[in-house]
Amino acid sequence: MKRAIYPGTFDPITYGHLDILNRAIKLFDEIIITVAINPAKSPLFTLTERKELIEQVLGNHQEKKRVRIEGFDGLLVNFARQKKATAIIRGLRAVSDFEYELQMALMNRRLADEISTVFMMPHEKYTYLNSTIVKEVARLGGDVSNFVPPTVKRALLKKISQP
Ligand code: ADP
Repeated sequence: MKRAIYPGTFDPITYGHLDILNRAIKLFDEIIITVAINPAKSPLFTLTERKELIEQVLGNHQEKKRVRIEGFDGLLVNFARQKKATAIIRGLRAVSDFEYELQMALMNRRLADEISTVFMMPHEKYTYLNSTIVKEVARLGGDVSNFVPPTVKRALLKKISQP
């Protein structure tokens, strides 16, 4: 059983995240989407909302049985060990992601040599996409249909219309 964790804030999940997940599921038997509580990033959605949105988006996914969604707060390699995962999946969009990601991957390897970080590149059409920019576009009244699934779009519009 090859298991990997796919950590992130997922505030909210985008087509970029899904692209990476769809690639990763072909390489591993099970993927645990690990949703970081991450108060430092002041997420727009609560942890429960972020997990529910992922759950809804994966509703009809072919490989749903091989994907789990869990919340997490703490040292990532400890979580990976606890779940008997051997890999950490990370998406690489641009060179700008690289420096931070390399540092994290090397630190995690120092902490847990048996766990490898696997970098995956999304389809070119998602290389400019991140949750922050999607939230910004939604806030400014832009159409986010090409960036997030319909359920996420609805949740975003509802959230930003709240006082
Ligand atoms: P962000 O980096 O936008 O705050 P997350 O922390 O939720 O998003 O990201 C979780 C993981 O998903 C990271 O490895 C990140 O690089 C990856 N990811 C996010 N958006 C994309 C995208 N558009 N293409 C590829 N990977 C992505």
